[in-house]
Formats: sequence, structure tokens, C-alpha cells
Amino acid sequence: TLEAGVVAVQGDVEEHAAAIERAARSRGREVTVHEIRESGIVPDCDLLAMPGGESTTISRLLREEGIAPEIRDHVEAGKPLLATCAGLIVASSDARDDRVDELGLLDVSVERNAFGRQKDSFEAPLEVTGLVGENGDGDGDGDGDEDESPFPAVFIRAPAIDDVTGDVDVLATWEDRPVAVKQGPVVGTAFHPELTPDSRIHGLAFFENEAASVPEGGTLESEAES
Ligand code: GLN
Repeated sequence: TLEAGVVAVQGDVEEHAAAIERAARSRGREVTVHEIRESGIVPDCDLLAMPGGESTTISRLLREEGIAPEIRDHVEAGKPLLATCAGLIVASSDARDDRVDELGLLDVSVERNAFGRQKDSFEAPLEVTGLVGENGDGDGDGDGDEDESPFPAVFIRAPAIDDVTGDVDVLATWEDRPVAVKQGPVVGTAFHPELTPDSRIHGLAFFENEAASVPEGGTLESEAES
């Protein structure tokens, strides 16, 4: 069984847990989801999601609870992290806000609340690079083809990514601004992939991410034995 963690100091935690379970189930994987509110749990997790919410609050709690360095270690060990909306802001290397202590896990700078007041919240059909079908196989022929149908992306007071450096791959743009990126084992989205039934972003972050791995002797191997 895979051990998944959802950072649960604030934000839409249950929706992420459900999306992780859907993405795992559709690939024949078992997963146990842990809510992370204190230190000591992240080191046991094979994969992590950091939800939206309020980035200044999330950042402060991660620091106060001593969770921030554990998330850095997780990524350094090559284990996957999906950071969404406020989670992306916290994972970035520059949020241009003194109240946010960036984790520096993605070489991007972000602009908070970038899409303007009228568009506080909107849904957009996004072309996202590298998505694989809901069942792990877009056309059902078992070869894991890409599924190029647009992803229904829900933006809520979303950040935009305005500078991308290092080895960051831009997976999707909206209004000419990057809104989904990948760097090694980390996938970041400005939108909320957990708020739609489509679990392809979670699948991409956790199961189709060739840069990410579970630890040696980890839970994937024990699963294969049973
Ligand atoms: N506007 C929030 C922030 O800057 C992010 C919004 C969200 O996560 N839905 O932290």
C-alpha cells in the first residue's frame, strides 16, 4: 500500500484525499491517505499533496509545526509532491510577500491573486501536456496513451506564474501565463485539480512522473509481494 500525505494545516484536504484515491484506484493501486498537521508523518509518506487555502497561513503553520523541512527532505529524496494554488505559492522560490516563507521547491516566481477581481473564480478548459487517461490509458488499448482532452481547471483567486527558471517544464498556460509546471518530482498548478472528478493531474503528479520514485524497499515493493 502506498502511503499518501495531504498537508492539512488548512485548505481543501478531503477533496485531495479523494482525488488521490481515485487516481490510485484507476491504476490498480492501494493507497492510505494521512492528514498532515504535525511533524513526524511526512517522512513515512511516498507521495504528498499541498492544497490551496491561504498561502500566508499555510506557510506560517508549516514553519511553526516543523513540517517545512520534512517537505524539503521528501522532495530531495525524489518523492512526488503536487502543490496546488496556495500550495504552489508556498512551494515556489519567490511569492513576493514577506508573510510567505517559500519552500523553494519550484524555480518559479508567482504573483498572488493574479487573475483580477471580476475573475475571482472561473473554470477554463486547459490543454495540459502529458496527461494520461483516467484509467491510466486514454483510449483503453492498454498502452498508456496520452489523453489530450482539455482539463476542467477551476481557478479560485489563483496565482499566476510569471517567471520560470532552471529545469522547470511549463505544462499549461492560460492567458499566456504558465499555470501548471513540473520540475523533477514536483508538479505545481495555479488551479484546483481536486475540485473536479477528473484525476488526471493527480495521476500525472504521482503515477506518470518519471522523475519521482518511492524509496528503496518502499511500499511499492511490498505491494508486489502480496
Ligand atoms: N489567494 C490565495 C493565496 O494567495 C490562494 C487561493 C487558493 O488557494 N484558492 O494564498
